[in-house]
Amino acid sequence: MTADLASITGIETPTRLLIGGQWSSGRSGTLPVVDPATEDVLTEVADASPEDGLEAVEAAAGALPAWSATPPRQRGECLRKAWELMVQRSEQLARLMVLENGKALRDARGEVLYAAEFFRWYAEEAVRIDGHLSVAPSGANRIMVLRQPVGVSYMITPWNFPAAMATRKIGPALAAGCTVVLKPAKETPLSALAVAQILAEAGVPDGVVNVLPTMKPGPLTQALLADPRVRKLSFTGSTEVGRMLLKQAADYVTNCSMELGGNAPFLVLDDADVDAAVDGAFLAKMRNGGEACTAANRFYVHEKVASEFSAKLTQRLAALKVGPGLEDGVDLGPLVNADTRSKVAELVDSATGAGARVLTGGQAPERAGYYYLPTVLDSVPAGAGILSEEIFGPVAPIVRFTDTDQAIALANNTEYGLVSYLYSGDLRRALQVAERLEAGMVGINRGVVSDPAAPFGGVKQSGLGREGAHEGLLEYTETKYIAVDW
Ligand code: NAD
Repeated sequence: MTADLASITGIETPTRLLIGGQWSSGRSGTLPVVDPATEDVLTEVADASPEDGLEAVEAAAGALPAWSATPPRQRGECLRKAWELMVQRSEQLARLMVLENGKALRDARGEVLYAAEFFRWYAEEAVRIDGHLSVAPSGANRIMVLRQPVGVSYMITPWNFPAAMATRKIGPALAAGCTVVLKPAKETPLSALAVAQILAEAGVPDGVVNVLPTMKPGPLTQALLADPRVRKLSFTGSTEVGRMLLKQAADYVTNCSMELGGNAPFLVLDDADVDAAVDGAFLAKMRNGGEACTAANRFYVHEKVASEFSAKLTQRLAALKVGPGLEDGVDLGPLVNADTRSKVAELVDSATGAGARVLTGGQAPERAGYYYLPTVLDSVPAGAGILSEEIFGPVAPIVRFTDTDQAIALANNTEYGLVSYLYSGDLRRALQVAERLEAGMVGINRGVVSDPAAPFGGVKQSGLGREGAHEGLLEYTETKYIAVDW
């Protein structure tokens, strides 16, 4: 038996595919959505086949000429209206998100508002699509540069931020005049479908946004990339899958944006305000229960402040209430599924086997649901797998250092380069270190960097391109140069 979602969330949630403005059952049955807090099936959602995917591309391609010709102000107003509706419905959307993802209600509330902000920001950016004009060096003609919508955009999103990863792509795409086919993660299709429903209510025409949950992302994606009408692939997820998609897209030279994995170092220098660093570490580690690409994955703490830092961080994590995300006072919900929990447990066990000390947690509690206790590990030996792999769970491994140059080298010793965090009482020194950190983003004396108005993205194998800010809009435009003689 499945749950009565409407009575728990307060909204009717679509559970079918959205294709060309119609809710469709699709051609290949349904997929179960599981509540990670109970391991029970919440509901069944239509499971898109490659043929459903091609129908969605047909709808998106059909809607493209009119949408790209719609005045930018009008496109922006649809996004603005969608922001308003999301804010009005934020509590219901947050409850829905807790059910399918497991995160604590406080985190879900934060995400819904953050997700909605991408619609407000890109409502404002829709009217700022610029170009430029210059005189050719020869003086013979003018160089005119226009930006045009890239076209039908295929988006693949992960389960960890089920609404924000969708709005961070849909917002700029719609602002730029593109139409969209979105494939949410199979674990969390409900939030994406609810966002699509809001966009329709906000006046986005049929076919501009299509949504296809599926159990079989591989065949669906192959079919879509092979369709010459799909001109853009925007992916958020693991580096492993991103690499594979880049290879597939190479066959069609599809324009790609990639937001991939991270392995964020969190540096605490000897002159840091330790209480502020603990506050920042808590946010950088525990936001979303550690299931964030921006999650601090490795703490490099100067020997001088390391004992105080680890004791205070341990106190904070040990005090967290663990339980179902909708229960009162819960700080930390379950992980999203059994595989994620097994991976976290294996990384912790292997680190302790290599000599790391458990200051709190270090195990899964005995109860139904995919829980793992908040964990602090001290004196983690260099070379432990937990320092090189994305943990994606509530575990903070601490490594002590004495030499800043050595800490910077350790921080950079990874194929990832999404975000780094740094605490120091000396801003000049902090900025000098920030310039040397190989990351697309650096938080100085801050544990959170995400902001719809800031360019989010990574270097090295953490990705290609940026989301958010004006840069995020440009990912959905092509540059056209016109040589003019007048
Ligand atoms: P994942 O790569 O397993 O899945 C992401 C998406 O890709 C899902 O929708 C999934 O269905 C789809 N997918 C999987 N195999 C596919 C295939 N063969 N073809 C097409 N699509 C396929 O990642 P995940 O476990 O859902 O998410 C966690 C990962 O996402 C972490 O590595 C995290 O760092 C990363 N992430 C990055 C950012 C960022 O902005 N850089 C943000 C959030 C999450």
